[in-house]
Amino acid sequence: MTRSALLTHQTSAHYADTLHEVVERLAARVASVAAPFSGRPRDALARLVADVDLDDAPVGEARALREIDAMFVENAVWFHHPAYAAHLNCPVAVAAVAAEAVLAAVNTSVDTYDQSTVATFMERRLVGWTARRIGFDGGDGVFTSGGTQSNLHALFLAREHALAVHGSGVLTGAERASLQQRLLVVATQGSHFSVQKSALLLGLGEDAVVTVPTDGDGRMDPAALTMTLDVIARTDRIPMAVVATAGTTDRGCLDPLDAVADACDAVGAWLHVDAAYGCGLLVSPTRRHLLAGIERARSVTVDFHKSFFQPVSSSALVVRDPADLARTGWHAAYLNPDDAEEPNLVDTSLQTTRRFDALKLWVTLRALGADGVGALFDRVLDLAADVHRVVDADPDLRLLARTDLSTVLFRYQPSGTSDAEADRLVPEVRAALLASGRAMVAKTVLDGRPCLKLTLLNPDATLDDVRGVLELVKTEGSAHRRRPVEVAR
Ligand SMILES: *Cc1c(COP(=O)(O)O)cnc(C)c1O
Repeated sequence: MTRSALLTHQTSAHYADTLHEVVERLAARVASVAAPFSGRPRDALARLVADVDLDDAPVGEARALREIDAMFVENAVWFHHPAYAAHLNCPVAVAAVAAEAVLAAVNTSVDTYDQSTVATFMERRLVGWTARRIGFDGGDGVFTSGGTQSNLHALFLAREHALAVHGSGVLTGAERASLQQRLLVVATQGSHFSVQKSALLLGLGEDAVVTVPTDGDGRMDPAALTMTLDVIARTDRIPMAVVATAGTTDRGCLDPLDAVADACDAVGAWLHVDAAYGCGLLVSPTRRHLLAGIERARSVTVDFHKSFFQPVSSSALVVRDPADLARTGWHAAYLNPDDAEEPNLVDTSLQTTRRFDALKLWVTLRALGADGVGALFDRVLDLAADVHRVVDADPDLRLLARTDLSTVLFRYQPSGTSDAEADRLVPEVRAALLASGRAMVAKTVLDGRPCLKLTLLNPDATLDDVRGVLELVKTEGSAHRRRPVEVAR
């Protein structure tokens, strides 16, 4: 009998051989990566992909796996390389990578107990652990695909809550629709765009996201929040949720959670804290206090795949009151009948079939300890503080914002360079670095002007590594500067 190439009980040696070969090749590659990116041009990469005929005769496993090495691995962006400093991507814990291979091979789906058994308890335990770290005694939650889904889920719960509180009994479709048009979400300009997206997906009105003014660092101004809520109270609109951000994506600043919670409590508004980026502070041995007040939220988004060094995806929505999550269960006779005695996680998830991502965090906490993970995040935050000093002291660079976490917003602007010129150089420097593959930085817009951005999330990157990136920025900046035209004498 020929084997089917699927992972079945007949194929254990084949499985091991195949994975060993891939892992050994990858391990050698990871150790020898010389730059975050190959620098291959976009059209060359597009051609590389387009040239494969997926209807061609099969090439067999060994060759197919070697092909992805040449195509994907060779041209991937390496977040573990110390010159990668663009977005919120982290190098991953080795134990978590191994766990990823385990959960993929077992292929557990955690939607129902009869598909996941002990995995259900492991996920619930981790969610409970996270809830306690937040300060929710007896809180609940569910793993999600990412902060975007966690935020959507939180706002969905807040919407259902608002409809229950402000509607009378079972709503007709028309009553629901008209009530939904009155719901508002209050956030800042610095909140993640998934807040806007969620409002749209949840069928709220077009103007449903109200922006609260911030202080100079982009943190929500609690007095302005109170005023905004007062203004809303004088209309027929309903503040369905206030979204505070614990670590804005661009600036890494934390909204003042305690003061924001005070304002929410005064009007009974649902406080959602988006800690997708700042959640690493939950385990920080030195900086947990920055999250003071998070325990007063009703729901919290955490992205373990950002500041807990987990492979994508690993995220969770955590709620203070388990009843909030339980509010929204759908039941199917074939899957999770509403009289089921078994704990079915699908009852509290937006997804059905769902990865056992929790295994990766489980093994990471067991292997490194919570303090160990927090110490890694601390190292990143210490590095960011040092980089801020270096940029600030460099006459060719302008530091543009403070951070509570690990972003660095700056511009290349040596003396004699106009603002317009410095603005023009931002995308050029970023593109030149990407094209070279030698360093990766991001760009964003701050107060209406473009700027370069580093997001530091690599605990093994040193100050010298980042200095190297800054030198490359300066070299490219200088090369792209418009020299005054030399007048021939
Ligand atoms: C990254 C981020 C998100 C989105 O999370 P994903 O995991 O990318 O979906 C949401 N909020 C904040 C503040 C973030 O930084």
